[in-house]
Amino acid sequence: MSISQPRLRSMLRQADKVAANGKRSAAEELYRQITEEAPESAAGWAGLAGVLLSPAEKEQAYEKALALDPNNKAALVGLAELRGEPIPEFPEEVEPEPEPEPEPEPVEAEDEEEYVYYCYRHPNRETSLRCYTCGKPICIDCARKTSVGYSCPDCQRELQDKYFNATNTDYILASVLAVVLGVIGGVVIGFIGALTGFLFWIIMFFVGGAAGSFIGGVLKRAIGRRRGRYLPMIVAVIMVITTILPVLVLGGGFIGMIIYLVTAVPAVYYQMR
Ligand SMILES: [Zn+2]
Ligand SMILES: [Zn+2]
Repeated sequence: MSISQPRLRSMLRQADKVAANGKRSAAEELYRQITEEAPESAAGWAGLAGVLLSPAEKEQAYEKALALDPNNKAALVGLAELRGEPIPEFPEEVEPEPEPEPEPEPVEAEDEEEYVYYCYRHPNRETSLRCYTCGKPICIDCARKTSVGYSCPDCQRELQDKYFNATNTDYILASVLAVVLGVIGGVVIGFIGALTGFLFWIIMFFVGGAAGSFIGGVLKRAIGRRRGRYLPMIVAVIMVITTILPVLVLGGGFIGMIIYLVTAVPAVYYQMR
């Protein structure tokens, strides 16, 4: 099974462009896709060889290109460079035509914007979108709109990994501290709530948010203000459990507890983001 010539040309042009922009690994991925779908393309193998890192792999890819097209200029030059041999010279008139095109090219416009790309995650979907970071083409389902342009899932993920920088130790530390502070809050509510009543609810209404902010602030400082993807949710759940349990054990302050939960927990969650 072989892919269509216009598609192969479009993919090659795209890979060449990505390579020319210095996006080595993205270019490697594109050339690999080409050599997988069109293993008969000498230009694909030569292009792949150009962006590979390992000299052994490079040599192999160049040899594949030359086996398919002994006159492939890029492969002849690249292989000679790789082996430290003199660079072959090409007389003007012998300029090789690596991939002759018997059929005319009516569909493809000259304008660059008209190139048809194929989503790197869905090779059968045509698209005109490309990731603004790595240049890989992406379909509308894979693209995520950001303030600067469309981003592919890989780059998006990389960005998030940089944003969520909390370590496993941070998770443990924040959880343990949340249990301690949560229990203290729960005990205070259970005790005072059982003794007082209405006044306490009103107090809770006013201090709950501040208490939550305080606890969140302490936790955040304890983990060096790093962010964890799941930390706000984990801490919120811990706060709920550690507030409810002491109140149940001490048998009081239920309304104060509810008021505390709906004011303090969102405040903690907000602080932990
Ligand atoms: Zn896609
Ligand atoms: Zn990307």
